[in-house]
Amino acid sequence: MKFGEAFAEYLHGDKELFLEKFSHVEYKKLKKVLKRCRTANGGGSCRLGSREMAESGGGEGEVESSSSPQCCECDSCPLCDEKFFSELMKEASEIAGCFSSRVRRLLHLHISTGMQSCVLQLFHCFRHNKLLKIQQVQMLVEYATMNAIAMRKILKKYDKVHSSANGKNFQLRMRADHMELLQSPWLIELGAFCLNFNGNSEEVSNRFSHQFSCDLSSDQATMRFIVSDSVKLEYTLTCAICLEAVFNPYALSCGHLFCKMCICSAASVMIFEGLKAAPAVSKCPVCREVGVYANSVHMAELDLLLKNRCKEYWKERCIAERAQMVKQSKEYWDSQTKSALGI
Ligand SMILES: [Zn+2]
Ligand SMILES: [Zn+2]
Ligand SMILES: [Zn+2]
Repeated sequence: MKFGEAFAEYLHGDKELFLEKFSHVEYKKLKKVLKRCRTANGGGSCRLGSREMAESGGGEGEVESSSSPQCCECDSCPLCDEKFFSELMKEASEIAGCFSSRVRRLLHLHISTGMQSCVLQLFHCFRHNKLLKIQQVQMLVEYATMNAIAMRKILKKYDKVHSSANGKNFQLRMRADHMELLQSPWLIELGAFCLNFNGNSEEVSNRFSHQFSCDLSSDQATMRFIVSDSVKLEYTLTCAICLEAVFNPYALSCGHLFCKMCICSAASVMIFEGLKAAPAVSKCPVCREVGVYANSVHMAELDLLLKNRCKEYWKERCIAERAQMVKQSKEYWDSQTKSALGI
C-alpha cells in the first residue's frame, strides 16, 4: 500500500474520533500542490535553477543547472513555496504543540499523587483507567510516528519534484526549532511509560511493547525505538556531565537530557531552586543554545524506569542527591544569616 493511502486510512479509521481534535500533516493537500507544480512545468520537474539559466541565455538546457547544489539551496519555486512551506510550518508547530500537551496531560494523570490522584480516582475506576491509558499511549505513539513519516515523505517528494535540497533543509530547520516529533523528549517519556507499564502488567497486551527497548546497564545507556522497518532510532540516556545513566532527568528545550543535580550545577543554581531559576544567559552544556532552561521538562517516567530496572544505582544516586541538597541548603542559610547579621 502506498503511504498516502495508509495515512488516509489511519486518519479515517477506527481512531477517527480520537484524532478529531488533533492537527495533522495535510498530506493530500500538499501532494496536490506539488502535482500542480509538475503539471505547470509540462510534466517534467520544476527546475529551481532555471531562472539563472534563462538570464545567462541557457534556454532549455536546464538539466545541468538543476543538479548543481548551489542553485538548489538558495532558489525557491514561485509556484509552490509560499503555500507549501508556510502550510507545513504551521502544521508542524501545531502538531508538536498538540503532541506535547497531550503527552503531558496523560503522564500527569499517571504519576499524580495525593489529593489530585484521589479526585481523579473518583472519576475513573482503576482498571478502566489503566486500559484507557495504555490505549492513549499507543495512539499518541502512532500519532507521532504517522505524522513524522508523512512530513518526511512530503519533503522528500518536494525535493524530487524540484531537484532541490529545500525539503531536506526544512527538515533540519524543524529539528533546530525542536519541532521534530521523533526527537521529542516526550516520545522518550512515552517509551518509558510503555516499558514501565509492561513491567507491572502482563495482562494488558501492548502492541507497541516491541517497538521500545532500553539498555540501562551498560556504559552507554540508551533507549531504542523502532518506527518502521527502515527507520530505527536510538536515544542516548547518558548524562553528558557525569557520563552515567541520567538520574532524576530533565530535558532542556533543545532536547538534551541531564541529571537534575548535574544540570543545576552547570547552570549555577541550587538543586532546591530548580532549573527555572537558571539565568537567561545559561547555555546547554552540549549544544550551547541559550534560553533552554525556562521550559525544561522533568522526565518522571524515565526516572521511574531507572528506579524499576536499576534499583541499586537509583538508590545510590538518590542518597548522593539528597546529601548534596542538604549541603547546599546549609550553605545557603549560612550565607543568608551572615548577610542578615552584617558579618
Ligand atoms: Zn514547485
Ligand atoms: Zn549526570
Ligand atoms: Zn542542548
